[in-house]
Amino acid sequence: MDIQKELEKVLNKEQILINEPMKKHTSFKIGGPADFLVIPYTKEELIEVINFCTKNNINFYLIGNGSNLLVSDKGIRGVVIKTTGLSKVEVKDNIIIAECGASLAKVSKKALENSLKGMEFASGIPGSIGGAIFMNAGAYGGEMKDIVERVLVLDKEGNLKILNKDDLEFAYRYSNVQKNGYIVLEVELKLEKGDYEEIKRVMDELNGKRVEKQPLNFPSAGSVFKRPQGYFAGKLIEDAGLKGMRIGGAMVSEKHAGFIINYDNATCEDVLNLIKLIQDKVYEKFGVKLETEIKFVGE
Ligand SMILES: Cc1cc2nc3c(=O)[nH]c(=O)nc-3n(C[C@H](O)[C@H](O)[C@H](O)COP(=O)(O)OP(=O)(O)OC[C@H]3O[C@@H](n4cnc5c(N)ncnc54)[C@H](O)[C@@H]3O)c2cc1C
Repeated sequence: MDIQKELEKVLNKEQILINEPMKKHTSFKIGGPADFLVIPYTKEELIEVINFCTKNNINFYLIGNGSNLLVSDKGIRGVVIKTTGLSKVEVKDNIIIAECGASLAKVSKKALENSLKGMEFASGIPGSIGGAIFMNAGAYGGEMKDIVERVLVLDKEGNLKILNKDDLEFAYRYSNVQKNGYIVLEVELKLEKGDYEEIKRVMDELNGKRVEKQPLNFPSAGSVFKRPQGYFAGKLIEDAGLKGMRIGGAMVSEKHAGFIINYDNATCEDVLNLIKLIQDKVYEKFGVKLETEIKFVGE
């Protein structure tokens, strides 16, 4: 089957990229080519692409901003669907309805403009809202679960479902979107009326902390490891003497040991080897097993 021709029945030519380097679509700036990378602009287009892939047994993988992804050097076989073309955000009173590809920065800005408080914690997380639901993204004491009201998903059988927040089994960096293979299409957030100046002050303060503490001048995927119970991954890595440790172009950040940075044209293999070294050393020294937060994808 000519996949390109079939995709062109659903999308315009410029929405279909062939042999597209994934390093252009990940915050790590790492990753070989996707056979196809498509950018739908509407929910209908997104659903049609998924239905086409499912019916024809074509492997597909959804990405938002690619800010939590490590993509293999060989790339991804099949179709990568990037959601950032679906980025409408609407506000009704204290409710925000956002399409899955809207960035947390954009949604937070809308919240601020409407003097809605509750999502200040998320304003500096560089993901899409769909990715943030998948991960139950969180920072500075807040998590997506605190502000989500309902989510529109497509399930594996191709049915649309509205899930309430309790249906999503949110936990630390987890929602059952991961287990059930749901596609998050739209998210409804419930915020509270607040004071514009105060919301802005908190957002600026938290974003200032990020600039101060995180190596934002290098490509990365944020914290590589989940927080182990009772510890901080960054502290354990630092105490294991691994700050600045390099394998190939990948390096444990000197600024924040919980981050691996793409210091100099790192490959996925460099990062995987460095992850393994960190896990082994931390286990050897402290008996703590570090589990990755970032998602590995590809051949
Ligand atoms: C500098 C930096 C700082 C960061 N700080 C934080 C932080 O403070 N807190 C935090 O929690 N994270 C942080 N992250 C990680 C990342 O931004 C979050 O995990 C974010 O939620 C990922 O969203 P994304 O759109 O980039 O997802 P992607 O990386 O594109 O995808 C991540 C996973 O979500 C799935 N997915 C994406 N969209 C959808 C959808 N619509 N439906 C179903 N599944 C989907 C993908 O298939 C993939 O498995 C940071 C990353 C960086 C680079």
